[in-house]
Amino acid sequence: MGWWLEEAGGVDPLPPLSGSVEADFVVVGGGYTGMWTAWHLLHAEPSARIALLEGGLCGHGPSGRNGGFCESMWLSAHAVRERFGAGPALALLDLASRSVTEIGEWCDENGVDAWFRQAGYVCVSTAPAYDDAGRASMRAAAELGRPEAVQELSAEQVRARCDSPVFRRGVFVPDFATVQPARLALGLRAKLLERGVRIFEGSRVSELSGDRGGVVARTAGGMVRAGAAVLGMGPRSRAIDGFDSRLTVTSSHIVMTEPVPDLLEEMGWTGGECITDGRHMLHYFRTTDDGRIAFGWGGGRLACGARVNGRVEVDRDVAAQVARDLEWMFPGVRGRRLTHAWGGPIDVSPSHIPQIGSFSDAPVHYAFGFTGNGVGPSQLAGRALASLALDRRDEYTRLPIVGSDAGAWVPPEPLAWLGGAAVRSALLRVEAAKERGERPDPLSAVAAAAPRALGMHLAR
Ligand SMILES: Cc1cc2nc3c(=O)[nH]c(=O)nc-3n(C[C@H](O)[C@H](O)[C@H](O)COP(=O)(O)OP(=O)(O)OC[C@H]3O[C@@H](n4cnc5c(N)ncnc54)[C@H](O)[C@@H]3O)c2cc1C
Repeated sequence: MGWWLEEAGGVDPLPPLSGSVEADFVVVGGGYTGMWTAWHLLHAEPSARIALLEGGLCGHGPSGRNGGFCESMWLSAHAVRERFGAGPALALLDLASRSVTEIGEWCDENGVDAWFRQAGYVCVSTAPAYDDAGRASMRAAAELGRPEAVQELSAEQVRARCDSPVFRRGVFVPDFATVQPARLALGLRAKLLERGVRIFEGSRVSELSGDRGGVVARTAGGMVRAGAAVLGMGPRSRAIDGFDSRLTVTSSHIVMTEPVPDLLEEMGWTGGECITDGRHMLHYFRTTDDGRIAFGWGGGRLACGARVNGRVEVDRDVAAQVARDLEWMFPGVRGRRLTHAWGGPIDVSPSHIPQIGSFSDAPVHYAFGFTGNGVGPSQLAGRALASLALDRRDEYTRLPIVGSDAGAWVPPEPLAWLGGAAVRSALLRVEAAKERGERPDPLSAVAAAAPRALGMHLAR
């Protein structure tokens, strides 16, 4: 289940839905997106009757087992501007930055100790082929009038923050924090319960129907009739009719070391920065309050069929690869114990930009496609979804990610899975060659570039 959930402590499952319940709003999914939406709905309408239906336990999916990088969207500034134009892009990027600060403020105001620490983020190159990582967004930020949002770091400056023998130059994004993800998710769950939200766990929604007058969500044990529904189903959004062409599902894995405070001291990695390399299949790593290193890799296998609907708990081969990569990056960890390894599914949007929208024939609103970067943006999505469900128009519903399409089309199964698996293998070969300073073989290079040729956004 992952170290974070273990550290956060267990929760007693809430009883499943049984019988018929009336509500103003029904939220499907107890991850960050669903829970932030419920929170913002309550803030706007304190007397609103909200029912939240969660298939498993709230916060026990990706929201409770991620890397805890609480990101603004500044490292996507280039892609966001390219897709939406300068004005809408800036509005989105500024609100995504504010979302990070607001999560910290929410923790303070509500007494939730989610280890929120706004120490910024470093994107670092680990081979000459990656020396330009983050530069396009650095230029875009400057051109958008926010030069401080993405800052250049020399190799010396990178190593002063965290000294690895493979680190080269990088960029620094100050509007970035880390959290203990499970503490944040379970903190949200606790605060929603305190505020009177009716949460039903073990309550998978198997059918959602509705018309302009309202919706009905059905589970094995009962149903909720509500004025509007919000779907925050994460990777399972792919099961929604017509959505399989709008996202794919891949996986990510994390290994956790035992506490290694002496090593962090030696590497000068005591400032709390979270770091990634510049690959497409990126490595991401951060420290914890008790001196551990959480080291993740986004290069897991694609999830398909049952695995989309089930949880990717841990793929042992991938976890072993992650452990080897950790030693390559930080040789000092050799001989130190890895206490935990786990994985989870990632909902990938072809543009790598989340999608928020509404159905045209019923008051049903949704958000998905955070592409491994939902911790910060899901709070912003929750604000937009709450406004949509309340039928209000404001700065959140005017965001360019609201009502936009996927940016490209995902082919039907089994093509999506076969194509994705081929691209993954090609990317692995291309990135390994780049890391060794070699030219990738031409066939792999062509296969790895295929998504871009189809309009899918790949690297940051
Ligand atoms: C290993 C890993 C590392 C990651 N690292 C980071 C990171 O460092 N930073 C970052 O920003 N992001 C990261 N992510 C991604 C991040 O976790 C997600 O973007 C974020 O949690 C999205 O939240 P969500 O609420 O949209 O989805 P989820 O957390 O997936 O929640 C969806 C919930 O809906 C429930 N559900 C689905 N279908 C139904 C149904 N039919 N009925 C009832 N309930 C249903 C599920 O059980 C689940 O609890 C990582 C993900 C993984 C797996």
